Amino acid sequence: MSDKTSAVATSPSGDPWLLTPGPLTTSVTTKEAMLHDFGSRDKKFIEINRRVRSSLLNIINGQDDFVCVPLQGSGTFSVEAMLGTLVPRDGKLLILVNGAYGHRMAKICKYYDRANEIMEYPEDQPVSISDLDTRLSEDKDITHVAVIHCETTSGVLNPIAGVAEVVEKHGRSLLIDSMSAFGALPVDSSKIRYDAVAASSNKCLEGVPGMGFVLIRRSVLEKAQGNAPSLVLDLYDQWVQMEKTDQWRFTPPTHCIVAFEQAIREFEEEGGVDGRGGRYASNCKILVDGMRELGFETLLPDHLQAPIIVTFHKPTDPKFDFQDFYDRLAERGYLIYPGKLTVADSFRVGCIGRMGNDDIRDALIVIKETLNVMGVTNCASVAA
Ligand SMILES: *Cc1c(COP(=O)(O)O)cnc(C)c1O
Repeated sequence: MSDKTSAVATSPSGDPWLLTPGPLTTSVTTKEAMLHDFGSRDKKFIEINRRVRSSLLNIINGQDDFVCVPLQGSGTFSVEAMLGTLVPRDGKLLILVNGAYGHRMAKICKYYDRANEIMEYPEDQPVSISDLDTRLSEDKDITHVAVIHCETTSGVLNPIAGVAEVVEKHGRSLLIDSMSAFGALPVDSSKIRYDAVAASSNKCLEGVPGMGFVLIRRSVLEKAQGNAPSLVLDLYDQWVQMEKTDQWRFTPPTHCIVAFEQAIREFEEEGGVDGRGGRYASNCKILVDGMRELGFETLLPDHLQAPIIVTFHKPTDPKFDFQDFYDRLAERGYLIYPGKLTVADSFRVGCIGRMGNDDIRDALIVIKETLNVMGVTNCASVAA
């Protein structure tokens, strides 16, 4: 192209690159898997569904002790189903909060009238293991603890292994929302003790949106009959029916599931969690280094940053208008994400999805050109 500053980037399917926390850029082959219709009660689909459920258990080394219960809907449906099904009516949930997704869990408990308490931390800090230890010693009524693996609000990584150790020591039940980390960061059930982990098709496993799943310790789910206050979100019922008939209780998202099978195959070919997580980590490093070179400041220090999504402070340069920046990047083929922090003006750039290191480098070039066109000269967040 002669006019380089107006070149429009596209993914291999001709779409904008999604530098977001999901839905993400998916492979062409994953999208192509959806060009077929499957009967939800047909043998072929039943086999695919079985393979998907089994592959998901492999990711956590959970074949012996865990079961996979898939559920229609976005990730929140699965989180809500996990809490509703596993926390009994006379239980009490302690939620470790350092962002919007932790607060959402508390909101779910309110709808469900489940006793809950939160331990809240700033959005740029991980939750505290020692505070948790003290709290569990003091409050014997707490039966369950919930934690977010990567808090997508900021991109901060929470110490789930340490949380798991403390919860186990106190004999309580741990429920993990690993939505934005699952497949890229390990949640190996042979190394970390927990009772359930929730995730979805459309984040680090690079499938399309439409379903979530909860991997649940079998012995725990077996005791969960009658807990759920909702029929469609009753994971016990979903599991029992699926084991009995091999079928979903209600219309499954067939196209999403066949695409998910393809996406999981590509995940395995990439080397599973190590391969996928490795690519995202290098994407993240290239992104952070490149943005810092342009003068941007990250919210988080590197040791707290999960390789999923990066929060940048909004520059104070008056020429920097986020909507303008967003629109110009979108015109050039890159969709970024607004900030979700309550404390600081910020925006986010995701490094997950079917993107390689060179795609991130290309995005950085376009970001630089866009800043030039806008006349932004200072990307620092505090005026010099
Ligand atoms: C994406 C995400 C969810 C689910 O969000 P949906 O919009 O319902 O898919 C839940 N928790 C975390 C940490 C997430 O990143």
